Amino acid sequence: MTQGCIIIDADRCKGCGLCTDVCPQAVISMATTFNARGYHPTQLVDPLGRCTGCAVCAVICPDAAITVYRDVTPRVARVPR
Ligand code: SF4
Ligand code: SF4
Repeated sequence: MTQGCIIIDADRCKGCGLCTDVCPQAVISMATTFNARGYHPTQLVDPLGRCTGCAVCAVICPDAAITVYRDVTPRVARVPR
């Protein structure tokens, strides 16, 4: 499965929770801290590396606060013997 990672710009986040609701891997949660605008921003909590880089979170974010990175290392083709 493709591996991904997200970076959340905490000061752009308004804590609406849309990204936490839609993440199919459930790896986004609300931080207990406050950002510069007084909201609880979201954070990636993914110790097992379950983010696939699907980008659903970034698409739904109304404040464009999420950047998605995806491992695009090409697979080595297996040559039949
Ligand atoms: S890219 Fe997909 S799997 Fe990764 S945090 Fe966003 S919604 Fe979840
Ligand atoms: S969808 Fe965007 S603004 Fe809403 S909680 Fe997630 S990162 Fe923050």
